[in-house]
Amino acid sequence: MIIAIIGPPSSGKGTLAREISKRINYKVITTSEILKEKAKKDENFRKVFEESIKSGKLVPTEIVSEIVYNEIKNQKNLILDGSPRTLYEANILKDFIDVVIFIKVHKEIIIEKMQHRLVCPNCGKSYNDLDLEKEIDGIKYKLPKILPKEDLLCDNCKVKLVKRVDDTIETLEKRIEEYEKHTLPIIQYYKCIGKKIIEIWLNLPVEELADKIINEIFK
Ligand SMILES: [Zn+2]
Repeated sequence: MIIAIIGPPSSGKGTLAREISKRINYKVITTSEILKEKAKKDENFRKVFEESIKSGKLVPTEIVSEIVYNEIKNQKNLILDGSPRTLYEANILKDFIDVVIFIKVHKEIIIEKMQHRLVCPNCGKSYNDLDLEKEIDGIKYKLPKILPKEDLLCDNCKVKLVKRVDDTIETLEKRIEEYEKHTLPIIQYYKCIGKKIIEIWLNLPVEELADKIINEIFK
């Protein structure tokens, strides 16, 4: 089975994907990681990739789709973090994806969390020093801190944690806008073609959410 996680930027998709993968022993495939690996091996793609980083624009969806397609076509038991991101990509990958986890979270929450986020520059694991408890439109958020065991060092790599350079409110708002325009329509499309969609509010600690989601997946 291949599971895709779709949700707004900086909503904690990666953390959730890893939490689920630990429990059901699935491999997490992160699109940005695949692209980085590809750029190391393929000189033509490296130019496209570096150009996209420089300009702040995303790698064209046709190229991403092909790379992800080739990566997953012969694999099973995967969780996709970061794909599909556009309707184009959703169409290319539709025969592989069995379940979509659709993460919902208010924009205010994402922005508040982002301001307290530190990431490992090596493995990408993210941490947060904010205890967030708040109610918005009837959704009760209870998101505890995620701190490393040793102060400011990644649990996995023992590397010093950093703030992501693109973690600014302005960039994040732009990314959320892109998400709403290009990624969100995938949910409707996949619903129409009969994919199983698990909708979940990101309002509880990641361990609790992972349990809930796994129950739904294997129901
Ligand atoms: Zn790390």
